[in-house]
Formats: sequence, structure tokens, C-alpha cells
Amino acid sequence: MKKHSQKNRKNSSGRSNRRVRRPQAPSREAILAKGGLYCPIDGRCGGCMLLSVPYNQQLRSKQAEMEALFADLLDGDTCIRPIVGMKDPRHYRNKVVSPYVGVYDKKARRRRVLCGMYERGTHRVIDSRECLIENQEAKRIILAIRDLMPKFGIAPYDEDADTGFLRHVQVRVGHASGEVMVTLVTREDTFPASKAFVRALIKMYPSITTVVQNVNTRQTNVIMGDKERTLYGPGFILDSLCGLSFRISSKSFYQVNVEQTEALYTRAVEMARLTGAETVMDAYCGTGTIGLVAARGVSGGPGAARVIGVEERPDAVADARNNARHNGVAAAEFVADDAGAFMRTLAARGEELDVLLMDPPRSGSTPDFLKAACTLAPHRIVYISCNPKTQARDAEYLVAHGYRIDEMQPVDMFPHTPHTENILSFERVGNSSR
Ligand code: SAH
Repeated sequence: MKKHSQKNRKNSSGRSNRRVRRPQAPSREAILAKGGLYCPIDGRCGGCMLLSVPYNQQLRSKQAEMEALFADLLDGDTCIRPIVGMKDPRHYRNKVVSPYVGVYDKKARRRRVLCGMYERGTHRVIDSRECLIENQEAKRIILAIRDLMPKFGIAPYDEDADTGFLRHVQVRVGHASGEVMVTLVTREDTFPASKAFVRALIKMYPSITTVVQNVNTRQTNVIMGDKERTLYGPGFILDSLCGLSFRISSKSFYQVNVEQTEALYTRAVEMARLTGAETVMDAYCGTGTIGLVAARGVSGGPGAARVIGVEERPDAVADARNNARHNGVAAAEFVADDAGAFMRTLAARGEELDVLLMDPPRSGSTPDFLKAACTLAPHRIVYISCNPKTQARDAEYLVAHGYRIDEMQPVDMFPHTPHTENILSFERVGNSSR
């Protein structure tokens, strides 16, 4: 993608990014007195829109929003569960990514490196020392890298001129394992100072278990490139989730709020009400996490007899197969295919499916997937959604085609943001053969 110079860059509303005067924000004291959290860059960063709203109030509004959204689809017997919130809704992001840019500091009369996050709708970096939702160790490592750069002659990337070396750093922290992976995204392949730099970094942060160099030579907004080499350690970290161990590499999809993900998966599998005899499908399975948790069972209950996962990305399917092997789960198989096409094939073959677990992307599912799901007629469907609006659209289809909503469980995966994750379980009614 062609880059424009910083001066001419427009934000999403089409206006220039020159600083505009914002309406007076409430003061630190006023926010804290109300029970909210104060962040000095709130409003500029755009990451947490609800920080100044007390957390209990955030949870109440999300609950009310879900109940209103599904009001016409729930029936008198639907069990509406209260939203699962966090005990401490701070520093929950286990993955932190930061750009590195150089600026001329007029006061100090020298160039210095900024890192932090992009200002909302722009490519301007806000120099930030602290973030209320990011993992604190990850943030400290991001800052330590900034401070080490000059000593090792590592220049920050200049995206307008396409010069410099270090573009971004991603730090991932295993929630339960505490293992830490640092990925240095560089514009060039050759990294002469790599050995000395990595040695110095690990000396400062012995919690780092692996360092990876990712090379991105393209002039693009996409953070990661294709080529990678491990500079230190095994090149991945392990983390455990619902009693299973998962291998996470720099580009693997892994939920960023692991504490809430455990709650989400546990509730979803509980809502599937497995007895140990079921064939379960994990549709849109990513790296197979939900399916593997279902195969194992939760809360001391039985797991599924057989799990079939489907996912369109072959690399995620490879991870899912590795995860199954690594955890000794023999009853799970994973297929790389379009979920709709795969469901149609199963329906045409007249396969038996007892429970369907589905976790589609924000756009929701598709008519051909839902149609084939109704032909396969599993007795339960558990639908996990990161976008309840498209979930409501799909739920309307299922309710019109032989299902009722048995239970609804919202989960707060992203405190201080307007997003809510929602689980619905459907049971087959009417002419069900089971
Ligand atoms: N269940 C997983 C991932 C959910 S994200 C987890 O909890 O980790 C949604 C997944 O759906 C992504 O991995 C995406 O690659 C996949 N996906 C999107 N469209 C798809 C389609 N049409 N068919 C199959 N998989 C699809």
C-alpha cells in the first residue's frame, strides 16, 4: 500500500490529523471519585472507551444490552445467566504489540525513540509508559527494548521513508506458565547485533524464555512478515487453558484475555451438556481450543466421544492437530475447509451429529452453514460469539428452523471496551428424532 507523508495523512473521518482541540474531559479526581479508572491518554488512544465508567456499571450495561438484543428470541423458559466479569479487570491483555518510531526532541535537542500505541484513527505513536489493560511485564520489556536500542545501533523504522530497522515488538506472556516470548519485527533480514542485544535483554528480563526475529520487508500496515528465525529458546511458549497445554508461536491465534477465555470455554462446554457419548463438531475452530476442551470435559464432567473441528486456515488446523497430539487427545480430528461447505458435505452424507459448537468470526455464520446445520439437526447447538449483533441474526434463523434458546451467558472478555462475548445454547424442539 502506498504511504502518504505524515503531514497529509487523513484519519477515518477524512480530516487531517493535525491536533484538534477536544471537549474538556472529566478530571482525574472526578473519574476516581465515581469509581472509574484514570488513564492519562484516555480519549487519544481509543483502546478502552469505558475506562471512566465504574466496572460494575459496565457489566450492568452489557447485561442489559444483551437482554435487549435477544428479547424477541428468548422464551419464558430461557435461562438468562448474569455476565461473567473479572475480579480485577486490569492488565488482562497477554499480548502486547508496540511500534517504534524516532522523533526529534526539541527540548533535549536530540533524537529519541517512542513506543506505545497508535493514536486513534492515525499512525501517530503515543509515547506511553503504562497501560491499564496490558500485561505489566510485557510492557516493561517493550520499554526496556526502547532503552537498549541506541546502545546496539538499532534504529527505529521510519514508515514514510521506509528506512530503519526495528518496526514493532510483540510480547506474549503465558498466563499460567509465565513463559514470555519476544518477537522483534525487523525491516531487514540481517541483524548484526542480534546475539549481544538478546543477551543484554535476557539479562534484564530473565522471564523471557524465547526471542524470535520476524522479517517484514514490505511497506505495509500488516505487522508481521512471513520469514522468521528463532534467536533464543524454543521459538514458542506453552500455556495452559482449562487443564490442557497449548503451544503458541508468534503468529498463532490465541485469545488475549486468558482468564476470561477459561470462563468462556468452561461455560460453553458446560452448556453442551455432554454425557460422554456425543459426536461434537467444533466449527470455526481456530487452533482447536474449544474442541479439545470439549473432548476432555470440564468441571469434572464427561467429555465428548468424538470431536470434529473445521477451520479454513490450514496453519491453524496444523496447530490444532499438534495441540491434540501434544495433549494426548485421540478423539479429535481437524479438517481444513470452509465451514459452510464442510457442513453441506456432512449433511449430504447423512452424518450423525449430536452437538454443534460454533465460534464464527465477527461477521457471523452464513446461510449455507445454518441451513446444513438444521439438516444435520444436532440436538444442541452452542453458539459463541464475539459480535452478538450477527449472533442475533443467526439465532433468528435457528429459532425459525426448529430450535429454541435454552440458555444465554454473556462473558466480559474485554473490560473497558464496548465489546461483549455471548454464548447461546439452543435445543432442538418439535419433530426432533432424538
Ligand atoms: N474457536 C477459536 C477461533 C475463533 S475465531 C478460538 O476460540 O480460538 C474464528 C475462526 O473462524 C478463525 O480462526 C477464522 O480463521 C475461522 N473462519 C472464518 N471464516 C471461516 C469459514 N468460512 N470457514 C471456516 N473457518 C472460518
